[in-house]
Amino acid sequence: MSNISGTSPQPSPTSGEGVKNVLIYAEVTPDNYVHTVTFELANKALELAGKFDNAQISALLICKNGLAEKYKEAFINSGFDKVYVAENDRFTHYSTELFAKTAIDILNEVKPDIFLIGATIQGRDLAPRISTSLHTGLTADCTRLDINEKGQLAATRPTFGGQLMATILCKKLPQMATVRPKVFKPLPQNVVKNTEFIYFEPKINDIRRKVEFVEFEKYIQSSINELDSAEIIVAGGKGMKNEAGFLLLKKLASVLKGTVGASRGAVEIGLAPQDIQIGQTGKTVSPKLYIACGISGAIQHLVGIEGANRIIAVNTDPNAPIFDNCDCGIVGDAFEVIPKLTEKFK
Ligand SMILES: Cc1cc2nc3c(=O)[nH]c(=O)nc-3n(C[C@H](O)[C@H](O)[C@H](O)COP(=O)(O)OP(=O)(O)OC[C@H]3O[C@@H](n4cnc5c(N)ncnc54)[C@H](O)[C@@H]3O)c2cc1C
Repeated sequence: MSNISGTSPQPSPTSGEGVKNVLIYAEVTPDNYVHTVTFELANKALELAGKFDNAQISALLICKNGLAEKYKEAFINSGFDKVYVAENDRFTHYSTELFAKTAIDILNEVKPDIFLIGATIQGRDLAPRISTSLHTGLTADCTRLDINEKGQLAATRPTFGGQLMATILCKKLPQMATVRPKVFKPLPQNVVKNTEFIYFEPKINDIRRKVEFVEFEKYIQSSINELDSAEIIVAGGKGMKNEAGFLLLKKLASVLKGTVGASRGAVEIGLAPQDIQIGQTGKTVSPKLYIACGISGAIQHLVGIEGANRIIAVNTDPNAPIFDNCDCGIVGDAFEVIPKLTEKFK
């Protein structure tokens, strides 16, 4: 594969030909795993590509020498038609300059219609640099992706401080979007493809890193990790009022073998630590069951729980917006309802 570098303006996505190629950035984590968001995006990309005949999904993998071999099976089982690989020992640790240059070179060659990136720390660093270089648009932190009637990527995200959901179209190719982990679900089962692995020789000899890697130290916040993997979350809002209220939630969570989360309202009045806040400025979660207690259901909270399979809400106010966004609603005082639920589930 040859290597073309450049920043020429990209063509428009409204040519009417529809989507031919959805490319996903396959992020490698510092401990050398392909980030799970890659496979969540693959599921979504398959759905988007499925709206067009012969549309393909592919991955862009930048990693140290020899690592791609280790990931091959994961890509083959996740519906990828092609994987563009750039390996080099200078990619052992993430570097904005080296990764951006390589990604831009590959994008100039592959010319995807859509390029999706996980809204992780790495993705948030890389995506704007790439979109600026390619003179294309980037919709960050999307909560929904679709294809509109003109065949364009319709990327939806909260805007105006979360008061509105805006659907944003990109005028140039590639149409770029970042999506937070857990917004989409990974593939429910393997989609095995005859994946083609295309190796790309990175042209990075002249690129100097502005930041040198010194040491990687993993910052472990146990509650955050628990929220990431919890199948059941019992979340409390301002309506839980005090420490005793949150203790009731902890008891219910413990009986259900789940974990506790919180709304920003609860965090702001000191009922819960910020690291268990769920929503637009907190975590995005996708449990099987989400029990929202004393949470009004503001849009900024709801965007964090869109991936939940089932939502049960407990609230004294029958007009609370959470009741329009749940599978089962209990109008009542959480201080009475939660102990009863805990007893029943025991
Ligand atoms: C830019 C921005 C980002 C934001 N990000 C987030 C975010 O990430 N996460 C988030 O949650 N919010 C976020 N917010 C705040 C959001 O708009 C709401 O203010 C917040 O979610 C409200 O929290 P709450 O539902 O706990 O409190 P409230 O809205 O005050 O609701 C409390 C609820 O408890 C009910 N209640 C009271 N007593 C009881 C009782 N005894 N039993 C049962 N129910 C009872 C009440 O009827 C009420 O519905 C953000 C806001 C902005 C502007």
